[in-house]
Amino acid sequence: MIEIENVRKSFGPLQVLKGIDLTVNKGEVVTIIGGSGSGKSTLLTCINGLEPIDSGRIKIDGTEVHAKSTNLNTLRQKIGIVFQQWNAFPHLTVLENVMLAPRKVKGVPKAEAEAMAVKQLTHVGLGEKLAVYPSRLSGGQQQRMAIARALAMEPEYMLFDEVTSALDPQLVGEVLDTLKMLAEEGMTMICVTHEMAFARDVSDRVAFFHQGVMAEIGTPEQLFGAPQHPETQKFLSSVR
Ligand code: ATP
Ligand code: MG
Repeated sequence: MIEIENVRKSFGPLQVLKGIDLTVNKGEVVTIIGGSGSGKSTLLTCINGLEPIDSGRIKIDGTEVHAKSTNLNTLRQKIGIVFQQWNAFPHLTVLENVMLAPRKVKGVPKAEAEAMAVKQLTHVGLGEKLAVYPSRLSGGQQQRMAIARALAMEPEYMLFDEVTSALDPQLVGEVLDTLKMLAEEGMTMICVTHEMAFARDVSDRVAFFHQGVMAEIGTPEQLFGAPQHPETQKFLSSVR
């Protein structure tokens, strides 16, 4: 379970998160939508401890992310994160790229790391691309490699930050299908996305962020069908 309690975060004078409360249960898929600069990416980087917070609390299965006593390296093994773009190591094959973190971070033996990498790459539909170099992959394939790389660490939670935003429109579908597959398998996920059809289709709950505040959260039916907050209504009419 991910528990976010009254989290505040500033960059200098700019208050970016103004008291966020959100609990994500095991197996739940929560998507976050909202305008540019509303704090969506910042929240994700706070959840896996990449960024400190000013006040409040974030707990992963009861462990407080920002407590001094917390071993962030151990905690991060539980939480995979995939960004808009990931720069794979160009001199390593797809397989070697996906094997790297389990080898280096978890100390998994080579044969085991390789088996896991093959499994996850096959899972995301890249079973034919193991020996290829990343530059030979399409944008959609590169994003699926990034997802496989995160999955190879066997995370319990996955955070996705606009993983399709940098893609040509014709490549978006294959990556969203991969996320949908993970959701259906029961992965606990928080997805920041601009893809409203995806959010409607896959989410248990959708949260709308506005200027550092979670203005509204509800089921897709509630949020898209009958948005309550005027800013949600404005946002949804601007993206439709
Ligand atoms: P987008 O949809 O454009 O990705 P977002 O909702 O993800 O937007 P954030 O990236 O969380 O927004 O940024 C929130 C605010 O914090 C923005 O005003 C941004 O400029 C600022 N910000 C983010 N990261 C930093 C940083 N490292 N230093 C200073 N300001 C930052
Ligand atoms: Mg962002």
